[in-house]
Formats: sequence, C-alpha cells, structure tokens
Amino acid sequence: MPPPVDAPLIAAEGVTRIFRRGSIFHGRSTVAAVADVSLAVAPGEVLGLIGESGSGKSTLGRLLLGLVPPTAGIVRYRGTALASALPRDLRRRLQIIHQNPMGALDPRMTVRRALDEPLAIHRFGNRAERLERIRLQLDRVGLRAEHLERYPHELSGGQRQRVCIARALVLDPEFVVADEPVSALDVSIQAQILNLLRGLQQDHGFTMLFVSHDLSVVNYIADRVAVMHDGRIVEQGPRKEVLFQPNHAYTRSLLAATAALRT
Ligand code: ADP
Ligand code: MG
Repeated sequence: MPPPVDAPLIAAEGVTRIFRRGSIFHGRSTVAAVADVSLAVAPGEVLGLIGESGSGKSTLGRLLLGLVPPTAGIVRYRGTALASALPRDLRRRLQIIHQNPMGALDPRMTVRRALDEPLAIHRFGNRAERLERIRLQLDRVGLRAEHLERYPHELSGGQRQRVCIARALVLDPEFVVADEPVSALDVSIQAQILNLLRGLQQDHGFTMLFVSHDLSVVNYIADRVAVMHDGRIVEQGPRKEVLFQPNHAYTRSLLAATAALRT
C-alpha cells in the first residue's frame, strides 16, 4: 500500500542513542545523548531544533541521517527503516552542512574538486557535464568561476560556508541537516548565509532540519520548532506557538535569555 501523501519524509520513533564516556583510569559511564525521541519532518518543511550545548541536537541530526545508529528505536525515511549501511542512492539524498566549514573542507582540495568529488562518487555525467553542474552550483550559492581553482584557505569564512552548502546541495538532496551553519561565522555575514539557505530551500523545496542554539535564527528560517533538553524533545509545534506561546518551562527559560523576537 503506498503511504498517504501527508506522510513524513523523515521520522524518529522512540529513538535513543547512548554513548560511553570516560576511560579505564577514571571509570566508565554512559550518557543518553538522545533519549526516546519521536518526531516527524514533513516533505518540504524546515524544522528548527533548538536547545543548549550538549542537549543532543547534533546527535539527533546524525541519527536522522543514518550517520549514527540508534541504540533503541527506529528512524524511517519515507516509511522505511534506515539500515545501518545506507545504500548509495539513499546516501545521496541525505546531506549535512556543518558548523565549521574549514573543518568540513579538505585543505588540499580546490573548490572545483570539493564539488566534483560527490558528483564523481555518485557517477554523475562525464567530466564536462560535471563541470557545468559545478559552475551552476557555484552561481546558486553566490560564488563565481574565479573561485573554482581556489583552496579553502584562500576564501573568507562566508565563502567557505557557501562552498559547503554548494557541496551538500550539488546532488539535489531531499533532506538536509544544517547543524549550526552560521554559528561559527562573523555576525555581519550570518544574515547573508541564512538568506542564501532560505532562498535555496524555497527554490529547491528540500526538507531541512535546522539546528541552532540561537532562537532568532530559528525564528527566521523554521516552519516548526522542536526544543531539546537533556536528550529529550520537551516541546514541538508551529514556530509561532513554540517561540511566542511556549508551553514548557524550559522553552520559556530559553526565550527569557534571548532578546525579544520579531513575529
Ligand atoms: P549538542 O549538539 O546539542 O551540543 P551533542 O549531540 O553534540 O549535543 O552531544 C550530546 C551529549 O552526547 C553530550 O553530553 C556529548 O558529550 C555526548 N556525545 C556526543 N557525541 C559523542 C560521542 N561520539 N562519544 C561520546 N559522547 C558523545
Ligand atoms: Mg551540536
């Protein structure tokens, strides 16, 4: 039976991820980075995920991409449970944009090679077709042909994040986890990169989990918001409800620590 049209693209059902920490010298303990989380992301939706550092946001993002296997529970993509080793075709459709673009890029690769790598891995076209795709992709993220042969250290922080965004989107993914994509950037260029991401999401319609500890950023970009605290989702709902009429005391405390948001 085909799934109903309003079926989620990605869903977590009772997902838990436990990590071990410590050493044999200091004793071992375990931490539930993500504890019994259930959430669903609808096709084309931007779900904002907020919570303080260490609350489990990145781990949840990686679980939804199949990059980390759950200790318990299931992640479903279009209704089908993600296997521990994703088939190549599915891997292509699930992408991540990291907080730190310098760490995400290989310092020895030019922009052209950084964008060619995913295309070559997924056997996209011939050399000329790939170069055409790379040029189009650079244009979409506001870079130019002159950037093709540059290395990461020859670019500004904002330009590097544009390259990472271009690389994540070059194979037209269906689901993108943007994990604090502007947190490491100068405040003066955060808005440019946010605008770019929002525009690309609106043009291409990919589904996005947008992780941030900055509520004003999430208020700008998200359709719905989920609030994470100690590995659990304590509240989720439409952006305006969660950010302007929160039910949970923890959400209210996050809001109290933030300058007034604009509806
Ligand atoms: P956030 O992104 O909200 O800052 P994380 O998902 O990075 O939170 O981390 C949640 C908790 O899980 C933290 O206590 C962190 O130390 C722990 N953790 C995350 N990844 C690992 C790992 N690979 N090994 C051990 N502990 C981890
Ligand atoms: Mg994180």
